[in-house]
Amino acid sequence: MEIIKFNENNYKKTILILGVFHGDEQDGEFLIRKYIGLKPDVKKNRLVFIPVVNKKGKENNTRTNINGVDLNRNFPTENWTLSKIKDNYYSGETPASEEETKELISIIKLYRPDCILTFHEPYRCINFDGPRFETLKIAKIISKFNGYKIEENIGYPTPGSFGTYCGIELNIPTITLELPQNEDKNTLWDDNKNIFEFFANEY
Ligand SMILES: [Zn+2]
Repeated sequence: MEIIKFNENNYKKTILILGVFHGDEQDGEFLIRKYIGLKPDVKKNRLVFIPVVNKKGKENNTRTNINGVDLNRNFPTENWTLSKIKDNYYSGETPASEEETKELISIIKLYRPDCILTFHEPYRCINFDGPRFETLKIAKIISKFNGYKIEENIGYPTPGSFGTYCGIELNIPTITLELPQNEDKNTLWDDNKNIFEFFANEY
């Protein structure tokens, strides 16, 4: 995975920011690359970007990875469940069976992020997992920037999800930012650009 880091020395907190977790949800990469392209002055925190988690899924424009696995059902959580059918939400044969899952786990062990932001689509809302007080505080700040509503629960079970793994089991504030689908790129950027500056120099 391509990893782009800012401010590796003298940082207070580490924020991990992920795009294209699902291959057919690509606007997170657009926002990440737009921000990076501005050559931002990151002074307070360390930012670690992975613009594309699911490279083959992006190439094929599929939710799942090259093996037909939904990475967001493949994390080794207590509630991991083997899927009955191989659909768009297929869990994989075993927890962390996929290379992308293993790589993210080792990246989290290596960088020990204080907060994680992952971009998804299409619900135009903010989900959160993790220590409630701290994570909800971050979700509220993001909601103030982009006007998206905060949803505590996405409305269906997500065994083996990245949010459960990082937020609930590792206790890292984890924000799942669901971008709207087919949004005009300028609007998307204007609504969300302040999030990057917040993580860079305020949080
Ligand atoms: Zn998604």
